[in-house]
Amino acid sequence: MEWKAIRKRSEDFAGANLQDYETSVATFSWSQEQTLLGGLPQGGLNIAHEAVDRHVLAGRGGKLALRCIGRDDRVQDFSYADLQAAANRFANVLARWGVGKGERVFSLLGRTPELYIAALGTLKNGSVFSPLFSAFGPEPIKARMTIGAAKALIVSETFYRRKIEPIRHELTSLGHVFLTDCLDDPPAGATDLAADMAAASDSFETVLTGPEDMALLHFTSGTTGRPKGAVHVHQSVVAHHVTGKLALDLHPGDIFWCTADPGWVTGTSYGIISPLTNGATLIVDQAEFEAERWYRILEKQKINVWYTAPTAIRMLMKAGAGVAKRFDLSNLRFMASVGEPLNPEAVVWGLEAFGMPFHDNWWQTETGGIMIANYRSMDVKPGSMGRPLPGVTASIVERKQGGEIQESAKPMIMGELALRPGWPSMMRAYLNEEERYRKCFAGGWYLTGDLAMRDDEGYYWFVGRADDVIKSAGHLVGPFEVESALMEHEAVAEAGVIGIPDEIAGEVVKAFIALKEGVEPTEGLRKELLGHARKRLGPAIAPKDIAFRKNLPKTRSGKIMRRLLKARELGLPEGDLSTLESEEQ
Ligand code: AMP
Repeated sequence: MEWKAIRKRSEDFAGANLQDYETSVATFSWSQEQTLLGGLPQGGLNIAHEAVDRHVLAGRGGKLALRCIGRDDRVQDFSYADLQAAANRFANVLARWGVGKGERVFSLLGRTPELYIAALGTLKNGSVFSPLFSAFGPEPIKARMTIGAAKALIVSETFYRRKIEPIRHELTSLGHVFLTDCLDDPPAGATDLAADMAAASDSFETVLTGPEDMALLHFTSGTTGRPKGAVHVHQSVVAHHVTGKLALDLHPGDIFWCTADPGWVTGTSYGIISPLTNGATLIVDQAEFEAERWYRILEKQKINVWYTAPTAIRMLMKAGAGVAKRFDLSNLRFMASVGEPLNPEAVVWGLEAFGMPFHDNWWQTETGGIMIANYRSMDVKPGSMGRPLPGVTASIVERKQGGEIQESAKPMIMGELALRPGWPSMMRAYLNEEERYRKCFAGGWYLTGDLAMRDDEGYYWFVGRADDVIKSAGHLVGPFEVESALMEHEAVAEAGVIGIPDEIAGEVVKAFIALKEGVEPTEGLRKELLGHARKRLGPAIAPKDIAFRKNLPKTRSGKIMRRLLKARELGLPEGDLSTLESEEQ
């Protein structure tokens, strides 16, 4: 079906930060934007300084920075000055326990105030913040903390007992653990964070970090191998700030709700840093999705700008536009979505339920910030991710034999989405994985691993991933990580993991398993394997379904052909089978 473009009238974007796309692109300069931030002496730059201290220094300390809504609706408010004081205390606590510049501080927390305070305090201390998703099980946690050489961890007592205690002896770099919600005496090697914070001073001079000093470590997954730690530096704050202004239309004083969890990059770049650098109030809900609750938050908190994800939008659609109509959503000015393909129906449904479309935008862990977006002032073509940010050069390319890269000259040709490196929030490395990092670049382009097309007006259209990585409910799942956990079960000989289309979550994880000689494929064993994976991996990445196969299709070199598993499962053409090893069915 052809979807009609949603035309914007000038009254739809009165006061928008980006008024005219072409002009903005023609006049944009990253270095000019950087001069609008505060900076530190001697050319230093620190994300937390830009997010919090700069506002306090300018006399805006009394403004509301963060409001955390508890599961029981209890509200905890922090002004910019409160947030600064708390972050200072945490920085002092880190310093006291010997956590220094460049050392990694991990978090494993729900969306509680401590998470936000820890992020900012870690950055102030010149240490590196690496947030873990709280729905991870012990295996993904262990892998990430090991790769990142975690020096300290801030974790709730419940998560500690359940997820860290069993693996603590394997986390050899881990020096200290800070426990939140600590009821019992802390175990050896851990302290009660509340007590540490109470004993610490609330003044702290932000460590003089340089723009190229490492600030954030976000993990992502590829088709094979261990998770990759994308290294981001303090200079990324320039991109967080500008993209929030242009792609999300953030203004000082806006009330902003980013529904992403800081365990994923969106929840840090736009769930902490960007709204604060832009002087907005950040709303955080500790509870999980529930349609009525979300509408109530939009109404009661008078949200102006809302940044959410396709899975959530599809769940709201399921509840019906009638539910939205029961709430006063008149404060809402702009709605954006990210993380997975936003189907055109969902974009248009925004008009019906909220009187405005959802604005899709595109980026990934490696890019650190939004790269392609639908802007408030620009016509929306439902199903398109929009156009590149001012300051970002994108293209559709083809990898030719011999490694040459060719840009597609014609519109609507499918190829790999590529970006010209050079924006401030681009990852600087995959930690200790030089080769994997190098492979992302060719011919002067950063190759994103996504397939896309560009139309004759410069709008980009997502087609799919070029690799086997799965996107389930917006969370990136590396099949290899799931297969490895399944392989640890004594009954499993081989495992192949793919994404299966799902109406709400986009994709769900499904595993195919070949059992060891003599093991019977019973329903009981299937359930046991599902339980095993869930316990090890956590609900965010464990398979939702498992099917037994006598053999899995493999290449002659022994690699499981996930592409073929998927084609067979979905009844699609099997494609080129020349590398397939002969199969015993
Ligand atoms: P992550 O690194 O976990 O943020 O995942 C990044 C990946 O999510 C991208 O490479 C895309 O495959 C997918 N993605 C992000 N935003 C969009 C979007 N607007 N439309 C389609 N896919 C998206």
